Amino acid sequence: MSMENFNIGYHCTGKQCELGRGGKVAMRWIGTDFERRDYTFDDLNRTTNQFANALAGLGVRRGEVLFTFLPKSPEQFVAFLGSLKAECITGTLFSNFGEDALIDRIGASEACLLVTRKSLYRKIEKVRDRLPALRMVILTDIQEDLSTDVLSWSRLMAGASPDFAVPVTDPETPSVLHYTSGSTGKPKGVLHRHRSLVKQTQTARDILGLRDDDIYWCTADQGWVTGTSYGIIGPWSLGITQVHFGGGYDARNWMELIEREKVSVWYTAPTALRMLLREEASLYGEFNLKELRHICSVGEPLNPEVITWGREVLGKDIFDTWFQTETGAIMISNRPGLAIRPGSMGIPYGDVKAGVIADDGTELGVGAQGNLCLRSGWESMFITYLKNESAYQSKFRNGWYMTGDMAWRDEDGYYWFLGRSDDVINTSGHLVSPFEVESALLELPEVAESGVIAAPDELLFEKVVAFVQLHAGFEYTPELELKMRIHVANRLSSVATPQEIFQVEALPKNKSGKIMRRVLKARYLGEEMGDISTLEERQ
Ligand code: ATP
Ligand code: MG
Repeated sequence: MSMENFNIGYHCTGKQCELGRGGKVAMRWIGTDFERRDYTFDDLNRTTNQFANALAGLGVRRGEVLFTFLPKSPEQFVAFLGSLKAECITGTLFSNFGEDALIDRIGASEACLLVTRKSLYRKIEKVRDRLPALRMVILTDIQEDLSTDVLSWSRLMAGASPDFAVPVTDPETPSVLHYTSGSTGKPKGVLHRHRSLVKQTQTARDILGLRDDDIYWCTADQGWVTGTSYGIIGPWSLGITQVHFGGGYDARNWMELIEREKVSVWYTAPTALRMLLREEASLYGEFNLKELRHICSVGEPLNPEVITWGREVLGKDIFDTWFQTETGAIMISNRPGLAIRPGSMGIPYGDVKAGVIADDGTELGVGAQGNLCLRSGWESMFITYLKNESAYQSKFRNGWYMTGDMAWRDEDGYYWFLGRSDDVINTSGHLVSPFEVESALLELPEVAESGVIAAPDELLFEKVVAFVQLHAGFEYTPELELKMRIHVANRLSSVATPQEIFQVEALPKNKSGKIMRRVLKARYLGEEMGDISTLEERQ
């Protein structure tokens, strides 16, 4: 991309119209009641222009921060791209957030505007006096303004022109603000720039394998980086038709959706795939999934068991991809044309240079376990942790960005994920990967989910402790426990064998579906759990 306009909002809308895709469906919206509505690129272009004009009318200036706080809904996409057109910094808040999580994000970033709906606004109202920078709230489901600073979306949009001259945006201009999932601690405000578009477009093309006539479905919520990088920016910058579904997980509904909408590329997460794996295999025989060409996964390691299931039950490969909020785009992955090694997250993409680095900063060779790092400078690299520059600086060493994950590389350049550096278990002088132990346990027909942690041990320094959730109909017995131990010892090694195993009803997961090992550990140790603002509350 030469000296052109890097504006993400423009690339995802107006540019597609200029390329002749104005009449093409950009989004097939499927609501919770399965009502469908199509939005063309022309529709997206006009509505995002209107939103950009509305912001100007409200006195919101470039560089100011605004958030959406919405369940998946058409307005969310319009607000996101419209505010990027206006060069505002735009963040997305997961609609299940409670008051503390909201204060942490809206307050800390000094956001000036929020787009939400009536039911969610109640949470904001309670804490609004603690958000002094928040000047305006727009509600998507009221017809008339509630007050001078609680405004109606439809009224604002009706009064705004559909013509907007998108500024020629410099690639370094701040763009998207994402708070991390908070799997390991307080979430950090990761700030991106419009340049990220370059990598998001390339990876959507080469890794998700998107082609002009594809129908693409990304299940991630827009509250997380996958939902924006690959649920908005990557695919629309390529002019691809996306299905967006407002409903939640349901195996039958999901398969029906894939069949009916002829989804050809599907991007989802291991937690969803493990749930699908738990369903009766016969379910999948009821559906015609022949249009489905490519399945990718992100967010957690993809257990080999899930890949086997995909091959046997769906007749498809599942491609694992690795990235983080901080990396903005997929960095390491499996992809079309590259043989999958089940359990490996694949190889670095394009000019991304990865390395395995020892704690002292030296680069390690093939087979050695260490810190997974990336050579600083890739296009979608974050520009800072908002208002926490020192935390940002602490992530870099000798030109390397330290991802906080641990991995090793095989002789062909494939990377194998071990765990987050806080989670990898150091037992009797060996490093044990919680992921490998969890995957081994999942191979047993009785085990539905597993979470493995390190617990302090006088003799071993750390010991391996496992939590397992059984499939319905199985009973936890001493024989089963022994079977689990023997299986892990055979599959991995005797050092990886869990010293203790506990049966649980469910594993704690955060709202993006990731197993919260930190919470398991705190429970095991009987400690306070720290910030759990992103923890999924169980009904
Ligand atoms: P926080 O940084 O607040 O603790 P988080 O790291 O979970 O939260 P994200 O940026 O959403 O927030 O997640 C990125 C992390 O998810 C990666 O660093 C890695 O630990 C894990 N992850 C993502 N994809 C994969 C994958 N394919 N294989 C293994 N781990 C993955
Ligand atoms: Mg992280």
